[in-house]
Amino acid sequence: LIRVEDLSKEYKMGEVTVNALKKVSFDINEGEFVVIVGPSGSGKSTLLNIIGGMDTPTEGKVFIGDEDITKYNDKSLTSYRRDKVGFVFQFYNLMANLTAEENVELATEICKDPLKIAEVLESVNLSDRKGHFPSQMSGGEQQRVAIARAVAKNPLILLCDEPTGALDYKTGKSILSLLNKINKDYKKTVVIITHNSPISKMGDRVIKMRSGKIVDNKVNENPISPERIEW
Ligand code: ATP
Ligand code: MG
Repeated sequence: LIRVEDLSKEYKMGEVTVNALKKVSFDINEGEFVVIVGPSGSGKSTLLNIIGGMDTPTEGKVFIGDEDITKYNDKSLTSYRRDKVGFVFQFYNLMANLTAEENVELATEICKDPLKIAEVLESVNLSDRKGHFPSQMSGGEQQRVAIARAVAKNPLILLCDEPTGALDYKTGKSILSLLNKINKDYKKTVVIITHNSPISKMGDRVIKMRSGKIVDNKVNENPISPERIEW
């Protein structure tokens, strides 16, 4: 489903050039739960942002199905982000002045083929919180709204950048279980980024990064459920 080919990204800041990605290549199959793991600064977010059409590479290609999104013009990139990609961030990024339900509604209004909002809120177990504003919800609840918002768009891929980074241990585990369930129930391809390497045990595929390179890419035949992982 996703093919990354010789992807490089340079950030130029005056005299200084940072090589955030150095000829990165890998494939992700449809329906896989992929964990990208690596230390801070290894290029994980840069990679995810390019796959999500939020940043452009210096060199290389990103195929989604048969289409190379690095060839897209702004208009095609906009529809790609809108219709094909669901994004979940570390700090939820909800609209503070909208309720849980309204946050999900707003995101789906612009999409081609959205799911039923009530069903998605139910599946993230938030039916009884739908009238709450972000300030009235716990971090874990807000992240569940953010996941509902991303899933309700009915995207081809769900990209999650440190989805548990702002949460306590137990809540983090429940969010990972939820993402696992979304992957199975909705048959969505899910890619999550983490710097907690034990979390990689839950992935169908584990991609390890270091200093802008892939140092390991393995299919995991026996993924473990997040409740049984300790980190
Ligand atoms: P973390 O775990 O801390 O989030 P990361 O693996 O996501 O790290 P990236 O954010 O992808 O790492 O950053 C990779 C490198 O690129 C870092 O050296 C970072 O300083 C640099 N970088 C990232 N974004 C930019 C930018 N917009 N301008 C300049 N340099 C950047
Ligand atoms: Mg990052």
